[in-house]
Amino acid sequence: MSEIPEVKTREETDLILDEIVSQAYQCMECGRCTGSCPMVALFPKDFHPHHLLSEITKDPEKVLRGYELWFCASCYKCNNRCPQGLEYPYFIMQLRRLAVRKNGVTPLRKAFSRIRTIIPYPVTFLSVCIHPERINLDPSIIEKLHSENLSRIRKEKSPATGPKIGVVGSGAAGLMGAYELRKMGYRVTIFESQSNPGGMFSTAIPEYRLPLKIVLEEIDNLRHPGIEIRTDTAFGRDITLDQLRKDNYMAILLSTGAHACKELGIKGEDFEGVFNTLDFLAALKLKHKKLTGKRVVVIGGGNTAMDAAAAAMRYGAKETILLYRRTREEMPADMNEIREAEKEGVQIRYLEAPVGIHGVKSKLNQLECMKMQLGEPDLTGRRRPVPVEGSNFILAADILVIAIGEKPQTESFPDETATSKDGTILVNPMSMETSIPGVFAAGDNVLGPATVPDAIIGARRAATGIDNYIKTS
Ligand SMILES: Cc1cc2nc3c(=O)[nH]c(=O)nc-3n(C[C@H](O)[C@H](O)[C@H](O)COP(=O)(O)OP(=O)(O)OC[C@H]3O[C@@H](n4cnc5c(N)ncnc54)[C@H](O)[C@@H]3O)c2cc1C
Ligand code: SF4
Ligand code: SF4
Repeated sequence: MSEIPEVKTREETDLILDEIVSQAYQCMECGRCTGSCPMVALFPKDFHPHHLLSEITKDPEKVLRGYELWFCASCYKCNNRCPQGLEYPYFIMQLRRLAVRKNGVTPLRKAFSRIRTIIPYPVTFLSVCIHPERINLDPSIIEKLHSENLSRIRKEKSPATGPKIGVVGSGAAGLMGAYELRKMGYRVTIFESQSNPGGMFSTAIPEYRLPLKIVLEEIDNLRHPGIEIRTDTAFGRDITLDQLRKDNYMAILLSTGAHACKELGIKGEDFEGVFNTLDFLAALKLKHKKLTGKRVVVIGGGNTAMDAAAAAMRYGAKETILLYRRTREEMPADMNEIREAEKEGVQIRYLEAPVGIHGVKSKLNQLECMKMQLGEPDLTGRRRPVPVEGSNFILAADILVIAIGEKPQTESFPDETATSKDGTILVNPMSMETSIPGVFAAGDNVLGPATVPDAIIGARRAATGIDNYIKTS
């Protein structure tokens, strides 16, 4: 599809709108986007992607004034299923830019007022979903929504008296599950291995996308409705399933995410200057690591790799090269993520892969790479990258970020937990109960690296599953 340019002048605004309307006419109204959209599952009264697209063809100015535009979470599920290949989240991003320009933030505020009725960390959720940085939304708008929201929250006064439930992990899924269970009257304790609660919100999603202060203040609010959060407490190390059962926890929700980063399997991965993606992003967000003047190389082709590369540029790297061993066609990252990384100045190089990490006194200074060509399809159906003999070359690098995928850390799961070969927890999809009675799971540890709306949907289902389990056992 043709590229829709950035909004610059008023005349260009009309041209962009015309272009989106003409693309919207290609919609066959098959409804697959709506059927696959997690935001429809969360906000069925507010958002229907194919309805919005048809409105765009009828009255685009009305769409710009409306609040429906602010619900898309840019997850790309619809794009992957659309028979016309329409890049829905990209239209939405462009329309949001126009909407703010023409109508200010009143429609965004209206969407937010709906979000806050369901999500206990609404500003965090909104920020992650709408990507304020992509539409150049002034950060003060998000800050204002946050301070207004904090002042409006009614503190829960009555203590919960129901059975005790343990929630492991305080990311998108754990917090949502805890909130739902507390609403049902359960006494909830969250056990979190890190010092800060919040999971990926606190440790991985870059500060310019999601300020840590907002995340922590929203989580702090959850403590007041009677949810206890014990940080620095790792399940499997500091507490076990048996102990929780002895302490009368009637059910457990495992929401431990996917934090085990895959390795390249080449020598030198332990060198100074070599990071896995999650450690790298945490070093930027929590330790304010300086990258000024550094040459950064990122390996990988997924959304997290793009986020790490874009963040490297934002944090001052002199250059950031992202190496992907296949072509753009096979790249799993969403188009918006790729565009964003390129806009930040990341140089994406295809059909190249690292084969050696070199350094002085175990400190990285060079990466040895090889050119690749595509061979026969592998088990994933994608053509296998095959090294081109004699094509070795050297890249100078101060920092290497290995971003080739994450999976759940299975070591902390109770022994009897049934998992897939990727380490994800197998659950009953209706109740989210695992192979262990009374132990439920939701979020990235069930789905593999996924999205915040997916984690929320799973956690709400798990809360209902726990409630049914307790009422019937
Ligand atoms: C860089 C990056 C950018 C992203 N951007 C987006 C985006 O724009 N939009 C979107 O929808 N999604 C995005 N995601 C994905 C999203 O963050 C995840 O899908 C979501 O956070 C999953 O929530 P979760 O609760 O399952 O896991 P997590 O958020 O990972 O939380 C799991 C928690 O469990 C804790 N834990 C783990 N093991 C233990 C243990 N043994 N004991 C106690 N605690 C434990 C962890 O410390 C962590 O706090 C992004 C992810 C990354 C990495
Ligand atoms: S999936 Fe594509 S063609 Fe079908 S309704 Fe949605 S946008 Fe239209
Ligand atoms: S990108 Fe995701 S959230 Fe947005 S309309 Fe498509 S499926 Fe829904």
